[in-house]
Amino acid sequence: MKDGFQLYDTHAHLGQARHSGRRQDADTLLRAMDAAQVDRALLIPFPVVEDYRREHDLIAAAVHRYPDRFAGAACLHPFLPEDDFRAEMRRCAEVLGFRALKLQPQYQALNPVSPRSDFLFACALEHRLPVIVHTGSGAPFSLPSLYIMPARKFPELPIVLGHAGGSVYMLETIVAASVCPNIYIELSSLMPHHIHEIINRVPAERLLAGSDLPESLITEMHKVLTMDIAEETKRKILWENPRALFG
Ligand SMILES: [Zn+2]
Repeated sequence: MKDGFQLYDTHAHLGQARHSGRRQDADTLLRAMDAAQVDRALLIPFPVVEDYRREHDLIAAAVHRYPDRFAGAACLHPFLPEDDFRAEMRRCAEVLGFRALKLQPQYQALNPVSPRSDFLFACALEHRLPVIVHTGSGAPFSLPSLYIMPARKFPELPIVLGHAGGSVYMLETIVAASVCPNIYIELSSLMPHHIHEIINRVPAERLLAGSDLPESLITEMHKVLTMDIAEETKRKILWENPRALFG
């Protein structure tokens, strides 16, 4: 099925979601990854959780048990007291070895254009953690074009636009990535012809694949695997880019 390609899912969730009641453990996720022949995944907490430290510990334990299969990402509410936010970010980066910070504007109403959001991007940059932001549902703060401002303010910080804005705002990700070399696009939830449109306009070095949920793993990976594009492009999207960004 995967014809020698290695597959990296840059959008997997682990833990317990308060908003949906969904639970995802490492072993069930690994079985889904094996069934889809996915080699490695970036584990991200669900957007709304009971206790963010506990969710981070859960992810760190999964990474510790399966270091060849998982990397970890942090997600914490931007309106926590700033000292608490910074302390947990330090713990995630320095103690737990996480490789990214997720922002969920559909549940965490942080205005990325406001200077009030600077601390989050500065903190991520300080710890060398790329920021992955959910885009699409949850407008206006999840609109892809809004991340042009922090991307320009923090040019050394990679910012990944998760879900590529969804099909409705997909064109905004092309605009944002065209004007900011540090903006990346994660392609989950798009139609294949949307992915083609993005590939035609954005350098392949800045594209990533993701599933969001295990039931979408095979579909999301196959969308890229079966496209009529250069093998080299597939290799970058499915493996080389995420390896470089998240380890
Ligand atoms: Zn997600």
